[in-house]
Amino acid sequence: MRIRLLIIMSLFFLQCARSPLDSTAPDAGEPLSIDIEAPAATFTAPEHPDTVTIRAQARREDGAALAGTATIVVYRQWAVLKADDFRYVPSWTVSRGWRRYVDFVSRREIRTSLGLIGKEIERGDSSFATMIRDLAADHRYEFWNHGYDHAVSVPDSLGRIVSEFRGTSYEHQLDHLRRTQELAREECGIALCAFGAPGNAFDANTVRALDACPDIRIWLFGPEESGKLVLPRTIPIEQPIFNPDFAAFLTAYDPEPPFAVYQIHPKDWDETRFGEFARIVDFLLDQEVTFVTPSELERFLEPERIP
Ligand SMILES: [Zn+2]
Repeated sequence: MRIRLLIIMSLFFLQCARSPLDSTAPDAGEPLSIDIEAPAATFTAPEHPDTVTIRAQARREDGAALAGTATIVVYRQWAVLKADDFRYVPSWTVSRGWRRYVDFVSRREIRTSLGLIGKEIERGDSSFATMIRDLAADHRYEFWNHGYDHAVSVPDSLGRIVSEFRGTSYEHQLDHLRRTQELAREECGIALCAFGAPGNAFDANTVRALDACPDIRIWLFGPEESGKLVLPRTIPIEQPIFNPDFAAFLTAYDPEPPFAVYQIHPKDWDETRFGEFARIVDFLLDQEVTFVTPSELERFLEPERIP
């Protein structure tokens, strides 16, 4: 198993939580494997994903007592579900595909991120803003900025083919990033910490525009040169796009990287496609993969970024 920190301490007590993401009031547990070779001790991680709190106590030669606590997270692999295009549907609020997906995430007790499009907030009635607000209040769901108008490969006024964040000006891109941040904050009461470009189409202006948005700290499928925490594309769940394929996923799955980010489009999945996706999630759960939101992954990978 992987652990985030190697803790070496002199004297210690251990407590275990039930899951690697359950950081509240851990239950007292049996001491786990520790090798002591004074003045250091080496902790051996438990076999299954967990959060372990180590409390160390020591006494100096002059008699002064010292104490400290460290929490280490034990995991096999993190997985982020990057679910794109959370759109409004009149009379239904969102599509049947989204409803099925949200129900599934709740039933499996996993976590997901959802791409929010600014214009959809403007288009939606109050039920849409309420649904976003309610989901965001549940720690399983994190919304991220998926642009304002979601334009992908459309002609501009000069007839050039552009996307919202590719081939457009710095000012246009910054305005669109900020509009969605503001709509999410003002209409839904939520802060968006991550961004993913529609169609994953971006250019050098996007890097600059995001630099001017310090509240966005994470870029899903962004370029290496960005100053944000970039979570890169890994193996696909949908092969081809919009089509989850369990057999193809099994062939490509790699348990080695510390984390994987999977792009999906639950909005229009039918029963069959959804079934393929469910098999993939259940397979990953069998592998003891832990599903996290982008912000949670940031907390584990680069906690110093978080204000
Ligand atoms: Zn999209």
